[in-house]
Parts: sequence; C-alpha cells; structure tokens
Amino acid sequence: MAESFDVVVIGAGPAGYPAAIRAAQNGLKVACVDAWKNRDGSAAFGGTCLNAGCIPSKALLESSELYERARSEFAVHGIQPGALSLDLATMQKRRAGIVRTMTGGVSSLLKAAGATAIHGSARLLAGRRVEVTAPDGARSEFSARHVVLASGSIPTELKALPFDHRRILDSWDALELTAVPKQLIVIGAGVIGLELGSVWRRLGASVIVLEALPNFLTLADQQLAAEALKHFKKQGLDIRLSAQVTGATVGTDGVSVAYQDNQGAAQSVSADQVVVAVGRRPYTQNLFAADTGVALDARGFIQVDEQCRTGAAGVWAIGDCVRGPMLAHKGKEEGIAVADQIAGRYAHVNYEVIPNVIYTAPEIAWVGKTEEQLKAEATDYKSGVFPFAASGRARAMQATAGFAKVLASRASDSILGVHIIGPLAGELIAEATLAMEFQASAEDLQRTIHAHPTLAEALHEAALAADKRAIDNINR
Ligand code: FAD
Ligand code: NAD
Repeated sequence: MAESFDVVVIGAGPAGYPAAIRAAQNGLKVACVDAWKNRDGSAAFGGTCLNAGCIPSKALLESSELYERARSEFAVHGIQPGALSLDLATMQKRRAGIVRTMTGGVSSLLKAAGATAIHGSARLLAGRRVEVTAPDGARSEFSARHVVLASGSIPTELKALPFDHRRILDSWDALELTAVPKQLIVIGAGVIGLELGSVWRRLGASVIVLEALPNFLTLADQQLAAEALKHFKKQGLDIRLSAQVTGATVGTDGVSVAYQDNQGAAQSVSADQVVVAVGRRPYTQNLFAADTGVALDARGFIQVDEQCRTGAAGVWAIGDCVRGPMLAHKGKEEGIAVADQIAGRYAHVNYEVIPNVIYTAPEIAWVGKTEEQLKAEATDYKSGVFPFAASGRARAMQATAGFAKVLASRASDSILGVHIIGPLAGELIAEATLAMEFQASAEDLQRTIHAHPTLAEALHEAALAADKRAIDNINR
C-alpha cells in the first residue's frame, strides 16, 4: 500500500521547503520531493534561489563589488593596494562553496523538522496520489491529505536566440562562467540583466544591455529609475532602450545580435557571449495529470485563489508557479501561510507590502506604491526625498549616490510607498516594510529615534521632508 502523508510538498525551493518545515512544526506528517539536478548530475534542495539564483548571484555581486572598490575607490581612503589581479577561479569556488553550504542546510533543516526529504520528480495524480520517479528511475507512490505544488519557474527563451549554453546563455550559465568575456551582450534590462551585467562589467567585460521597452525599470518609481540609469551609464553599462532584438548568428569565436534601434534602424552588435534575461515562466511540465482538477491560467501559471487554493480540493500552489511577483520571500510567505491553513491556523499574505530589491551599486529597493501608480489612481499624496549626499554615514562610507523617498497620503498621513536607491537600500527597506505592515504614518517615522550616524537616518529625514520639516537637508 502507498505510504500516506498529511502533506506532500512538490518542490524544495524557497516556497516549498518553508511550507514543509512549517507543516512539520504544526505536527503534520510531511514529505518534500524535489527534482533539482546540478550540472554535474548531483541532486540538491533549495530550488532556483539557492542553486542558481538569489544566493550565487549575491555571492558574485559581493566579490565583484569588492574588486571594483579596491580598483577605483581604495585610493580615496589612502589605501594603495598595489597591482590588483583577478583570480576568477577562487571567486567562483567561493560562490560554489556558499551554494553547497546553503543547499546542504535546507536538507538538514527539513530533517531537523521531521519532514521526509525525497530526491525525485513528482507528479500529482487524481485523488491526491503522488507518483515519484527517483533519479535512478525507480517509481513509488504516496497518498496525501494535502498536496502543495511549488514547482517554481524557468528562464524564458527567445525564439530568435535559443539557449545553447555556450554562446547564448541563461542566467545560470552566466553565474558559472570560468572566464571573463571581453564583450558581453545582455538582453533585458530587468533585475537579472542589471545584476549579472554589473557583475561581469566590474570584472572587466564590456557590457551592452539591449532592452525592448522605451522606459527603464518600468515597475520601479521613475524618479528612482532615472537616478539608477544615470549611475549605471556612468559606470559604463551601455544600456540601449527601445532595442527590438531580431536575431543572432553564432560563429566560431563569438555571436552577433541583430536588433532594431529606437529609430527603427537595423543594428548589430557582436560579443563573446549573450545572456538572455527577458523574464521567467512558470514550470509545470509533467507536474499534474489532466484529471486532477488543477488548471493553468492563460499565461501558464497554476490557477489559485487569494489563499493559494487550486481548483482541486486539498491541492495548493505557491511561489513562482502562481501569480504575483517572482520573489523568494513572496513564495516563502505563501508556503508558511498554506502550511498554517492546512493545520487550521489563521494565515494571511499581504500582497500590498512586498519589498523589492535590486542588488546593484547603488542598490535599489522599494515597497508599496510608486509615484506613477498614485498619480494614475488620483491619490492625493505628499513626497519627501533625502539625498545620501547629505548623510554623514554615507559620506564616511564614500557612498553618497542616491536618495530615500517617502510617499504618504495627504488625507491620512499613512505611508503609501518607500523608494530607496543608495548604500544598503535592501537592508534599509526592511524598516519601511515593517512601518507599512503596521500601517504607520509619516509622523510615526518622523517621531522614531534613529541612531546617528546611520544610513537609516535618510529614511527618517525623507519622512520629515514629506512635511517640509527635514533638518539635515533644508532645501527639500
Ligand atoms: P524554485 O526556486 O524554482 O524551486 C522549485 C523547485 O521545484 C526546483 O528545485 C525544481 O527542481 C522543483 N521541481 C519542479 N517540478 C518538480 C517536480 N515535478 N517534482 C519535483 N520537484 C520539482 N528572488 C529574490 O527574492 N531575491 C533575489 O535576490 C533573487 N535573485 C535571483 C537571481 C537569479 C539569477 C534568478 C534566476 C532568480 C532570482 N530570484 C530572486 C528569484 C527567485 O529565485 C525565485 O523567485 C524563487 O526561487 C522561487 O521560488 P520557488 O520555490 O517558487 O521556485
Ligand atoms: P524581469 O522581468 O525583471 O526583466 C526582463 C526585462 O527584459 C524587462 O525589462 C523586459 O522589458 C525585457 N524584455 C523582455 N523581452 C525582451 C526582448 N525580446 N528584448 C529585449 N528586452 C526584453 O526578468 P528577469 O530579469 O529575467 O528576472 C526574472 C525574475 O526573477 C523576475 O521576476 C525577478 O523578480 C526575479 N529576480 C529577482 C531578483 C531580485 O529580487 N533581486 C534578482 C533576479 C531575478
């Protein structure tokens, strides 16, 4: 007879493994099945985020930023590092080591919580049976009271530039390069394009970024986007907007990409390699049988309601394979919420207050609404901006680019959005996120004592500036 579980989670990425851990914490009998295979054939838990996404990209962003700062900034501090050289093999070894530690950690966490972790490919069958094919091809079947689908996403391919993983790369390939390309083309000026484009530019590549849309970072507040574009261009990222890629030719020593520029004229650029980073799509191949009652929407996402219930009783779906932003922390909250609902506990994901971070330098982070969204919905708002150039801590850090911006309702003073570009913006946004989660007003931020000298004072001053009461930047 098939072994039965209270909960079977399919996928052990940042959505699936927290769901499994919380379900086990709730006293349920849990299995978590994951099919991830590394390029050397080894299996690992942690999904895209830990193996080929958030963690390895942040490891390389950190290393490459240190390299760039040593090269261009240390002298200002009176530090003469002498002849600098890049040891990419060591840099990549560090990246791989961090990934190994973190993915091994997921395995230990599942075990410590009492969840059964299984390597293999899972398929949901009718009646909440789950068929698992192990890496050696052996098949087994389980039954479950609840099944959570957390199968994640994969990179979107362009028809004109199919991945060959040698010249035409996806983001995973671009994280594991063993040599710095002289010329690199990145297609898509989104989060991945900017983060990975920055990594390879800092390490010495000449980087051209081709973006189809006429505007830069369309989802971000446009004041933030304009500031970011200015700094990226100054750093040497050659960002070309309104560039419609039409095709690519792979040769023996490189690749040439054809596109139409913003005037409609045909252009072509050549490089050693191309990274295609034009978004990701939900991954649901072989995930469920047709008679399970689970359905996909028009864009291929698993259809769910606000609580992550699919159309099939006892079947839930979370993370990148369902609607909403493709972010690790969004998937994690959904996983925890679903596991709590299964246990009969209260759970809620506040989709209005999800922070976004782009880990470039300057770093970009925001939560809540942009000024463009507030204008479009005719909300009467006030805006306060504080530049890091006026922050003592930012000056001490030699990191004065950017600003913090607070948007608040004129009627109620409640904080509607916070947008930060500058040093450690991704850390600073946590305070704004907490404030918004607690429905704080701009006055609440104004009356909160911030330690001096800290970067967080920029948020304090931006809140003051929303009422024209900033102290350290009198002009705003
Ligand atoms: P995934 O992490 O994709 O995990 C899904 C897992 O399910 C995989 O292991 C897969 O093998 C497994 N699976 C699929 N089908 C089956 C099946 N049938 N049977 C068994 N297992 C199956 N997000 C952030 O929030 N911050 C970042 O800094 C960030 N950086 C990123 C950088 C890059 C380069 C990339 C590519 C992404 C980044 N993301 C980042 C996005 C983030 O990685 C995803 O939002 C997140 O991984 C989604 O989590 P998930 O659990 O839904 O899916
Ligand atoms: P994205 O949606 O952020 O950016 C894709 C970009 O490619 C867009 O600007 C889009 O206009 C452009 N584009 C689309 N088709 C194009 C074409 N044919 N030619 C030129 N440009 C084109 O997607 P991404 O950067 O691939 O990232 C995928 C997902 O991973 C995102 O949803 C993101 O949330 C997540 N991610 C998050 C982080 C982070 O949180 N720091 C980092 C990396 C990835």
